[in-house]
Amino acid sequence: MEDFLSLELPELEGRIHALGQPRYRARQIFSWIHGRGVFRADQMHNLPGELRKRLAPFLSPLPVELDRTLEAEDGTKKFRFRLRDGAAIESVTIPEEKRTTLCLSTQVGCAQGCVFCRTARMGLQRNLRVDEILGQYYAIRSMSEGQADLTHVVFMGMGEPLANLGPTCRALKILTHPLGCGLSTRRLTVSTIGIPGPLEELYRTVPVSITLSLNGADNETRSRLMPINRKHPIEEVLAALRRLPLAPRRRFTIAYVLIGGENDSLQDARQLVRVLHGLRCKVNLIPFNPFPETELRAPKEADVTAFQDLLRSKGISTHIRGSRGGDVLAACGQLCGDGP
Ligand code: SF4
Repeated sequence: MEDFLSLELPELEGRIHALGQPRYRARQIFSWIHGRGVFRADQMHNLPGELRKRLAPFLSPLPVELDRTLEAEDGTKKFRFRLRDGAAIESVTIPEEKRTTLCLSTQVGCAQGCVFCRTARMGLQRNLRVDEILGQYYAIRSMSEGQADLTHVVFMGMGEPLANLGPTCRALKILTHPLGCGLSTRRLTVSTIGIPGPLEELYRTVPVSITLSLNGADNETRSRLMPINRKHPIEEVLAALRRLPLAPRRRFTIAYVLIGGENDSLQDARQLVRVLHGLRCKVNLIPFNPFPETELRAPKEADVTAFQDLLRSKGISTHIRGSRGGDVLAACGQLCGDGP
């Protein structure tokens, strides 16, 4: 039976209308579910008793069950959830001075094969449904009540959001709906390897912040690190990014994982300046976090600084993003659903 948790408001209005109820009841139910995190009809106090009884079969408990929580020394927390079919996914919260960011997964595993990423080693097991994507948010939101609020959400956990486009867009619409979670599009980020058609479709649907995972400034390097580049080379991906109707005063983020001896030379930095010319963006440099199964190396600190200095000298706003949660393998590209 269809679960109301996955429905956008107009769809829910249609279902409620079909039950012979006025449409405003759908708005009340939508607000209970997504705004207040109430998933049981008998707790929706402003609905008539008869309707509550009829709703019960359409409302299930969250499809994600917390299985384990690990906390790193820096306060980053990694949550492992079991899905109803036994698959495991991970979500991460990252507290900072004035914000707490929740990083959500969109797939169980990932098919993209980026060589620096631990999730890639799992391969793709399956896509997540809308309720499984949202379920991570609702489960963690209910745990953080009374503590720091979740101020930002990034789709940067396991999986490539654009490879699971429909459920990702639907989840974004519910997260940003004023009667739903009411998150501003400025506080929502989709991090992606950049698949041109789906990228444009997602941005047309919900103009959230976009982080493009670039990691190589020439096609040879990027293809070595990210197989998707053989299908969609750098110039094609950046052209798609340039076509997005970016609002005034907003910028794209370019994520660049610096890997020792692979993509961290000054020549790479100069080439990066060339390919980003004229694009409204900032660059986040992420020193690679080695994990047990990889031979790739972390970059030398001096090389990271030199890379940043070169980009800055050319007028590109560039930050070094210290990896968070490295001691519990919660950092970028380290989620894999098992192990620590
Ligand atoms: S970096 Fe992202 S897209 Fe690449 S394999 Fe890992 S999860 Fe998939």
